[in-house]
Amino acid sequence: MRFRFLILATILSTACLCAEADAQSFRVGTASAAPGEKSSGTLEVRAGVDAATSIPVVVVNGAKPGKILALLSGAHGTEYVSIIAIEKLIAALDPAEVTGIVILVPLINIQSFEQKVPHVNPVDNKSMNRFYPGKPDGTQTERASYLITKEIVDRCDYLIDYHGGDLDESLRPYAYWGPTGREEQDQISKQMVLAFGLDHIIIWRERPSDPAATRYLDNTASVRGRPSIVVEAGHAGTVDSDDVALLVNGTLSTMRGPQNAPGDAHPVENPVWIEKLVDVLADGPGIWYPLVKRGNYVSAGMKLGTITDYVGKVIAEPRAPVSAVVLHVNAVPSLKKGDNIADLGVPAAKGP
Ligand SMILES: [Zn+2]
Repeated sequence: MRFRFLILATILSTACLCAEADAQSFRVGTASAAPGEKSSGTLEVRAGVDAATSIPVVVVNGAKPGKILALLSGAHGTEYVSIIAIEKLIAALDPAEVTGIVILVPLINIQSFEQKVPHVNPVDNKSMNRFYPGKPDGTQTERASYLITKEIVDRCDYLIDYHGGDLDESLRPYAYWGPTGREEQDQISKQMVLAFGLDHIIIWRERPSDPAATRYLDNTASVRGRPSIVVEAGHAGTVDSDDVALLVNGTLSTMRGPQNAPGDAHPVENPVWIEKLVDVLADGPGIWYPLVKRGNYVSAGMKLGTITDYVGKVIAEPRAPVSAVVLHVNAVPSLKKGDNIADLGVPAAKGP
């Protein structure tokens, strides 16, 4: 509740100052929308040491002035549910009903999507969520990250980054909340993550705090004083309507917190807070036969599955090093050295 009053007071106090600007359009890349309008365009990443790319962007400029919310998806272009959820929101958001401005970027990593390459941008083989705040003279991923930082992160008030299980990840839905130590900002981002409604929330501490090396999109926003969260749903190339609905409805609920949309937020009441992540990595190539599914709870020492060589000889039986929930497990038989077999989340004894 405290959050809602805080934001309302901020909107009221800035309303008169904004009156002149309200009459003007809001532009991101080539998308420009006057109050009450929705416009689409592109963020043009110019050619440099490698090819140019055009990242689609939509601006929904609400009829009433208010905060600027940025929603970005598809840094990993085969995490399809997150991309489809933003497509649904582009269609659903009516500028007549929106307060403030919503910037939507449904697909950052177009080459990953088109070529069906998981995890990285195939143009430079870099993850498009590891090189923020980016560089104007770097490779395509770095130039795109730089443009997103300047055009969107630096101009928004709140940010949500959307992910999910990639082509090779069987993932149960969860969110990340990354406290910064700045009490007021952390309370707002906590209200955002609760309002979003995903019932498992990872507390992500110990992230880079140097603004020149923030790595992740949401961390780039957080370090710059913008409350931000990460949400994940979907798995292994599937687009289940239940997963899409989690992200669409969660976004609409979160938008009601900063009053970007009418109605009340419906925060999750009793989430499982995760205080520690443990990755189980493959120590060599082989064929993966899982014994656990996404969302299972495992005890320390439990066998997670079997790895054989290419003629059926068992070469490893990875076990859970901790008692935890399986946040995601490798979804396909292929394994090479260093691959993530499973990502285990250790529940916190109590919430923050
Ligand atoms: Zn991702």
